Amino acid sequence: MDERPDNQPPEFAPRDLWADDIALRDAVLREGAGPFANHLAAYARLAGDTLYALSFDAHRDRPRLRTHDRFGARIDRVEFHPNYHAILRAAIENGVAGLSWRDPSPGTHVARAALSYLHHQVEPGTSCPLTMTHAAVPALAHAPALREWREKAAALHYDPRELPIADKRGVTLGMGMTEKQGGSDVRANTTRAAKLAGEDEYALTGHKWFFSAPMSDGFLVLGQAPGGLTCFLLPRRLPDGARNAFTLMRLKDKLGDWSNASSEVEFQGAWAQRVGEEGRGVATILEMVMLTRLDCMLGSAAGMRMALAQAMHHTRYRRAFGKVLVEQPLMRNVLADLAIESEAALALSMRVARAVDAAPRVPSEAAFARIATAIGKYWICKRAPAFVNEAQECLGGAGYVEESLLPRLYRQAPLNSIWEGSGNIQCLDVLRALQREPESAEAFFAELPNGLHTTLDIEVAWLRNAVRAPDEGRARYLVERMALALQAALLLTAGHPLAEAFCLTRLAGEHGLAFGTLPAGVAIDIALERALPAW
Ligand SMILES: Cc1cc2nc3c(=O)[nH]c(=O)nc-3n(C[C@H](O)[C@H](O)[C@H](O)COP(=O)(O)OP(=O)(O)OC[C@H]3O[C@@H](n4cnc5c(N)ncnc54)[C@H](O)[C@@H]3O)c2cc1C
Repeated sequence: MDERPDNQPPEFAPRDLWADDIALRDAVLREGAGPFANHLAAYARLAGDTLYALSFDAHRDRPRLRTHDRFGARIDRVEFHPNYHAILRAAIENGVAGLSWRDPSPGTHVARAALSYLHHQVEPGTSCPLTMTHAAVPALAHAPALREWREKAAALHYDPRELPIADKRGVTLGMGMTEKQGGSDVRANTTRAAKLAGEDEYALTGHKWFFSAPMSDGFLVLGQAPGGLTCFLLPRRLPDGARNAFTLMRLKDKLGDWSNASSEVEFQGAWAQRVGEEGRGVATILEMVMLTRLDCMLGSAAGMRMALAQAMHHTRYRRAFGKVLVEQPLMRNVLADLAIESEAALALSMRVARAVDAAPRVPSEAAFARIATAIGKYWICKRAPAFVNEAQECLGGAGYVEESLLPRLYRQAPLNSIWEGSGNIQCLDVLRALQREPESAEAFFAELPNGLHTTLDIEVAWLRNAVRAPDEGRARYLVERMALALQAALLLTAGHPLAEAFCLTRLAGEHGLAFGTLPAGVAIDIALERALPAW
């Protein structure tokens, strides 16, 4: 017998996040990761069931910093809820961090992106060390002596013990760029790197103002070497097992992202190995940052997807004024509008994942990844907070209560647009690509062929003119329109059933400033059917 109180929905989970998600299944096939479908389906089931259940306590019980042990010795250890480790272990063993480096076949970056999308939906806190571990691998290739770090970062093995790398089968990695006096402008870094006697060895003295996942085995950090700003690998434990000379000052009391710790750290002559040439620090670490930015897009798209799924689930069961909410015309408009936005966010993220995948083989894909990462990071991450708030409102008061998951999604939503280069920095990066790398602009416009849709043709004509002499003060407007044009073209090229609705509302202006302002006649029924299968 159903003992639910009257007019309350059943539990959301367990759910099969693969069977639920037509848009994801389509994108995986379209972008070339079809051979990984079985693996993705299995991970989606795990994520929608066990990991979803574990995530609540991992968030409720926030990490604690233990600076000293009972005898007064410095330990600088962060303790996480056991569920944090369980979730991280499951993710690493399933390739959320390492799949794309372990299997050289085409499509692995797309498959890993899909894993990351699934993982972000249920536990974005652990996604931070996962994405940093994944993204550090190409930057580490600049130091052939660090091969063991590369291999162990890609390993499908999680080992949270504090041991030197030689004693571990798998490692996790973090990054330290941001200092008190400058985050976006990393050239302002003051951490000093003094050369030691050993080859490529340095002693770092200084601080980092944000240092997330501080229990990682190693960190890619920037410091000022004699030859200029340089990238280093800073291990937590020295090869002889001793603690490296850095101290965690405190943990950040953050808006969201509660399962994961972000710290402030000071280096007191900490031992580090150089990665790349002296003076090439920004270029070296940017190879990592390009990949973490892709995961910001995926993370925001995932947050939107989970918020939409929760809203669909709730409104299918909740009745008001004699009808279930999902049948009320105005609620249908809100939900369908969110569904269109969510599908477009995923389509762009996965297209960029394919460009990253193909970049080593196809120069035009590398050029596209370069510019589309900044465009997508700006726009998708910017859309997430308003989107999640709207989905939250679909649940009414329940959406403001922790058990519903929506408050957690809402607190998480602004993060991706702030870290890894905030919104303005992404827009400036797009301008830089347009002005200095003509192949990026070419690759961008190649995605927007003539004749797909009248509204898109008009938009492309406007964009071609606008990119000639872009005005820095209006860069957000330009990048927003570039993002919308890309999303429209992707949906149109895919023959997507919501492409027409996207063009009408996002390009032709038949839409208000809020979600839920679709004009009459757009494909509301199709959007809702695709959004979440009814059980
Ligand atoms: C939870 C969390 C975890 C983090 N973890 C890490 C980590 O592990 N490692 C790490 O290195 N960093 C980390 N960061 C730091 C993050 O990457 C920075 O906060 C971010 O890059 C912005 O730097 P800032 O805080 O110094 O802001 P600022 O650089 O002071 O920027 C402030 C604002 O000014 C804007 N701005 C800057 N320059 C311009 C310009 N020329 N024109 C117009 N606008 C401009 C920016 O877009 C931003 O909106 C983390 C941040 C958060 C919130």
